[in-house]
Amino acid sequence: MLANWLRLRDLETQFFVSESLGLGTRAKETSELSRLVGTNPEASITDRLHAFLADIEWVDFGVFFQGVDHFIKQDLPRVLAVSKWTDLDWHLDSRCSTCDFLGHREWLPAEDRAVVDAYRDHYCETAAEDSGHLSRITTITRGSRKTLCEAGYADLGAISRLSSSDLVFKRHNALKADRNHLPQRASALISGNVTVAPGTTTIDFPKSADLEVFITVNFDPGTGLLSALRLRS
Ligand code: SF4
Repeated sequence: MLANWLRLRDLETQFFVSESLGLGTRAKETSELSRLVGTNPEASITDRLHAFLADIEWVDFGVFFQGVDHFIKQDLPRVLAVSKWTDLDWHLDSRCSTCDFLGHREWLPAEDRAVVDAYRDHYCETAAEDSGHLSRITTITRGSRKTLCEAGYADLGAISRLSSSDLVFKRHNALKADRNHLPQRASALISGNVTVAPGTTTIDFPKSADLEVFITVNFDPGTGLLSALRLRS
């Protein structure tokens, strides 16, 4: 239908419609289209179209259908119904590292830092800093954050005042496992000082080491050269 509409409007030389589903993944180091235009700037529309199609990674619509359907019918209306993005269920974690809305100043050039500084509430990291968002606590999961929020502990200040025996930590397995450390981590984020829960132990720094170290040195007398070194502990 769209292809016919484009033809009726004399737009068929400007737009292309395909009944197949494809993604421009940029998987190739140099795209076929760039290569064609670079070697032959006068290439015809048909040749350019073929080169463009050679760059596309075709996908099975049946595989993606459920995800697309769910996004359009459920995710999109839910997000559009909210006027303030901070009212959405957002959560900072390692997956945010490639997101344009992260606002991590150290990774930005000077001109972009100025934008983030001017609009701190437009970016997740700065908004999280200013609101004491619980996803700033390094080990907290999305589920445990939601559990704390639903119980009325919605920012770092509230968590820092909890004791490790508080009943809220029994509501979620991850909270139960981390109950000694979460208040300390929240305090550290607020104050900028190191805080450690009493009695904390870690296998990274044992009290004493029971360690055997094997070092193997191979020397080749024929060439007079050291041929291999190996360390095992
Ligand atoms: S930075 Fe914000 S918008 Fe981007 S993925 Fe993370 S939570 Fe979502």
